Amino acid sequence: MLTIRDLTAHYGAAQALFGVDLDVAAGQTVALVGANGAGKSTLLKCLMGLVKPSGGAITLDGREVTGTSPAQMVRRGLALSPEGREVFGHLSVFENLQLGALPLKLGRNEEKLRLEEVFARFPKLKERHQQLAGTLSGGEQQMLAMGRALMANPRLLLLDEPSLGLAPLITDEIFAIIHQLARGGTTILLVEQNAARALSASDRAYLLANGRIVEQGESAALLNDPRLRAAFLGAASHENPAASRLGAAGLTNIRLEKPDMHQLDFMPTFETDDELKQHQLSGLQWTVRHAFEGSSFYRNRLEQAGLTPDAIQSLDDLRKLPFTTADDLRDDYPFPLRAVPFEQIVRVHASSGTTGKRKVLSYTQKDIDDWTDFFARCYQMAGVTPLDRVQIAVGYGVWTAGMGFQLGCEKIGAMSVPAGPGNLDMQIQFLLDFQSTVFCSTASMALLMAEEIHRRGIADKIAVNKIIYGSERSSRSMRQKISELFGGAELFDITGLTELYGPGTGIECREHDCIHYWGDYYLLEILDPGTLQPVPEGEWGEMVVTTLCKEGAPLLRYRTRDITRIIPGRCTCGSVLPRHSRIKGRTDDTIKFRGVNIYPSSIDTILSAVPGLGSEYQIHLTRDAGGKDHMLLKVERAVGVAATRNAELIHEAVHQIKKQLLVSAELELVEYGELPRSERKSQRVFDTRLTDEIV
Ligand code: ZN
Repeated sequence: MLTIRDLTAHYGAAQALFGVDLDVAAGQTVALVGANGAGKSTLLKCLMGLVKPSGGAITLDGREVTGTSPAQMVRRGLALSPEGREVFGHLSVFENLQLGALPLKLGRNEEKLRLEEVFARFPKLKERHQQLAGTLSGGEQQMLAMGRALMANPRLLLLDEPSLGLAPLITDEIFAIIHQLARGGTTILLVEQNAARALSASDRAYLLANGRIVEQGESAALLNDPRLRAAFLGAASHENPAASRLGAAGLTNIRLEKPDMHQLDFMPTFETDDELKQHQLSGLQWTVRHAFEGSSFYRNRLEQAGLTPDAIQSLDDLRKLPFTTADDLRDDYPFPLRAVPFEQIVRVHASSGTTGKRKVLSYTQKDIDDWTDFFARCYQMAGVTPLDRVQIAVGYGVWTAGMGFQLGCEKIGAMSVPAGPGNLDMQIQFLLDFQSTVFCSTASMALLMAEEIHRRGIADKIAVNKIIYGSERSSRSMRQKISELFGGAELFDITGLTELYGPGTGIECREHDCIHYWGDYYLLEILDPGTLQPVPEGEWGEMVVTTLCKEGAPLLRYRTRDITRIIPGRCTCGSVLPRHSRIKGRTDDTIKFRGVNIYPSSIDTILSAVPGLGSEYQIHLTRDAGGKDHMLLKVERAVGVAATRNAELIHEAVHQIKKQLLVSAELELVEYGELPRSERKSQRVFDTRLTDEIV
């Protein structure tokens, strides 16, 4: 929408701006952060036509507007809420607001409509519409200045130092309003000295010092950059040269709101694959010795395989080790795989198994600390900061989910809302009242919430910008639906299993095309579930894990049954941490249909690609009297798609399934919302055939 190129400005002989480049895209909130005298206000004045630039170009919607008069800029859709508010003290609130629309020469009805909109957003201004502006408090004057700018119904709202001189509580209120405006679709250029506030309220940011842009990027990334955090907090020194550029600009007095935020880095310290491998080898050697010496279960297994701890000389020796399975855990109930004395165990967790004995895992304090640290890493990778509010809507109790999300959240210093699962009314109320910015749940629960938010029409009243979900597969269209109904939230698939500490053993990064897993805490092998031999790199197979520092219940080649594949090479996000694909399914939920092995997720993928179909579906498998198998897919139409399109949609979906999976399926379309939703994992496969095993 707005492009600034190579902008320079002078006050007499003194140069205030030196070749500034800056972009604001429609719908974005962009922050321009800098200390007093950095050139922020000059830049805004150039934009509004109040100062004539000495060089460079300003383009609005593709048209050059450099040097255009202030009144014309307002007509082109710009409005400024100036530094120091500049309200007219001897005029009433009402009269001040009228002035905002003056250059537009609106009719009486149009003006009344605008006033009503502004009053709806600022009820305090409505209460005081007859009061003289000079008698308002600082916060109310700021609201008036913003309201006056909004009277012009701007396409681009320029906010100059909205928090300047306001108490923290009032600043909260002002920023909540800025946030609502942004979610309502207003494009905002926010100029601020308060770096933490500005970065946490914006999508992108530019740091301005001495008339030059010194840093720019995604706000969350800047906020998380340890170098910048140090710079915000410290003055330049030999130990901290990075501070000099920003420090010289006076930014050192800007404190992030939680004091030790700059120390919160949970990424590994190694930088190369060789360093990682060295770390992994010593971890593997330690683990095998620890298991051999501490656990009678593992000692028996290793002895049966003719192995002693000295057998591990390289990472390849991993292949010599015997496998461990879920059955081993059940057989060894109630403290399976325990490798330390009971005195060292501080906690047990159990999986929420419905059949047979639960899988129980023992934890030492170090295990809990490690889990906490790498869960904090998950939040860090998703860009969660100490300024976030994390609503944790997963199960608390003996299972690992709630505990993991909670510990990691507190570790990273964000505000946690331990809501627990279910109870949609309460969840919605918390989203509204606490203005949670991150929502954690299963994918099914996230979908339920998304639909509830949509039903109540409150997407622009909540503040969620990230959803961290796990513990079940989710199709592309389900992800899209959730993101969209949540008002454009970013989704992060988090992995984990109770046997391997719990959730948080890997997460999607902000490039959103892989899961990074914590190769410094466990080894991952991808094996053919039939032959138990490694598959070629990049092919799908069963994920098998071996822990590197787990004390209470270490895992040696534990078969997770999860299907994924290694993605070779470095991620474009720059992380050294290795990666795999999102979990495609489990070895025990592959469908065998007319001799073809099908992962339910491939049906997800195919249905997701047919426009007009919704995200919810069921797979029904039946066998007729003649012994022939049939597959019936019950699929919801997308919202607003009419039943008159049924024939066309069915034809397309059946055709795609035939083409891609080489099987014939029948399709039945149902109304959007007709298939059951659940807060836990939704059942999708209904198989009433006699299985091969029973036969
Ligand atoms: Zn990445």
